[in-house]
Amino acid sequence: MTIPPNAIPQKPVLIIHFHEIALKRGNQAYFENILKRNIAQRLRDIPGARVRHMRNRLVVRGLRREDAATVMARLQKVFGIVNISVGAEVDAEMEAMKAAAQALVQSLIFESFAVRPKRAEKRYPFTSQDIGREVGSAVWEVSHARVDLTNPELEVFVEVVQGRAYLFAGKVPGPGGLPVSSSGRGVALFSVGFDAPVAAWRMMKRGLSLHLVHFHGQPQTDDASVRKARALAKVLAEWHGRIKLTLIAFSQAQEIISVACPERYRTILYRRMMMRVANKLAWKHRARALVTGESLGQVASQTLPNMAAIEDAAAFPVLRPLIAFDKQEIIAEAQHIGTHDISILPHDEACILFQPRRVETAAKIEDVRAAEEALDIPWMLDQLMKDAETEVIYPDWWVDDVDNR
Ligand code: ATP
Ligand code: MG
Repeated sequence: MTIPPNAIPQKPVLIIHFHEIALKRGNQAYFENILKRNIAQRLRDIPGARVRHMRNRLVVRGLRREDAATVMARLQKVFGIVNISVGAEVDAEMEAMKAAAQALVQSLIFESFAVRPKRAEKRYPFTSQDIGREVGSAVWEVSHARVDLTNPELEVFVEVVQGRAYLFAGKVPGPGGLPVSSSGRGVALFSVGFDAPVAAWRMMKRGLSLHLVHFHGQPQTDDASVRKARALAKVLAEWHGRIKLTLIAFSQAQEIISVACPERYRTILYRRMMMRVANKLAWKHRARALVTGESLGQVASQTLPNMAAIEDAAAFPVLRPLIAFDKQEIIAEAQHIGTHDISILPHDEACILFQPRRVETAAKIEDVRAAEEALDIPWMLDQLMKDAETEVIYPDWWVDDVDNR
């Protein structure tokens, strides 16, 4: 599905379709309003552009032709959108529709075509077949292309909604899913390999807005992991909108744990401490879930017993969207999202400095809790939170709301 650049009219109108949301009958207005807001955020710097509801669709009007491609590219990263078409809007009268169809296809080269009519309401003096026939012969007049309903080179869509007709010559797919923030908020444990960024993206796609937290090893390590975390957050912000990233210096906590607790539980105890920091952030930012990039069996800490021992420290549901993904699938998705080339850069793991020689793969929750008794956990948490730094990461298109300026 692509749109020939010549098929963008002088005064383009965008029609945005969203299936899954439309199905949620009772909540439809709620989802549509969030989607509309998420779209409007990406139009603030586009002169004239306005987004409006229209019966199971959103319509963007007032665009200049030269802005259409930019807007389409941004909208392809808005979760909740199934597809976007660009075309012309006219009154739902046959002569106007015919003229608009001719203008739309005039500069296109094609040997076969089909008209795809659709009426949102049944109260018009013409049927879908009438539209197909009349608009089809109008297209034939200017192109002399043949009609092919099964495998046409060009499809001319005509949608009649609330007295208006929209004509367009192609659609581009949106990412699907649910609009960001329609499912509430989560705190994503944001390491900088392939997994955590893909996991965050997957949950955004299911409508979570996210607060990111990255644990780094500075000053013992250099700042490579923090720079990666910022760059990855920026890629996600293009999909999510403005996003917050909290940076936590973790090496002191690791040092304390590695001195005070049995070596084989170290990795699990580090993760439990990360969970507790994430709990605090979740309370503070009104999040209701924690998100990790764990994948079953991928590394020693990701066995079922270890996941249970780590989750024991979480105060919210731990969402692991990659639990059943292979590494290859995760890497392919990272490429699609745009995080791959950043994730692949080298960095020092916070953990590596204090990494255990032997890793427990079947930790028992009671043993792990007992191992933790040597720690003053509230004090450690206070120390970790005291030096937390929170940054706001903006996508390229971000323009502050007039109200927030
Ligand atoms: P990734 O590829 O996402 O960096 P990984 O495959 O190296 O992760 P682990 O190191 O076992 O896996 O970590 C499992 C999960 O725990 C990560 O996906 C992330 O959600 C969380 N996590 C681990 N280390 C950190 C960290 N330094 N900062 C934030 N979260 C972390
Ligand atoms: Mg990691």
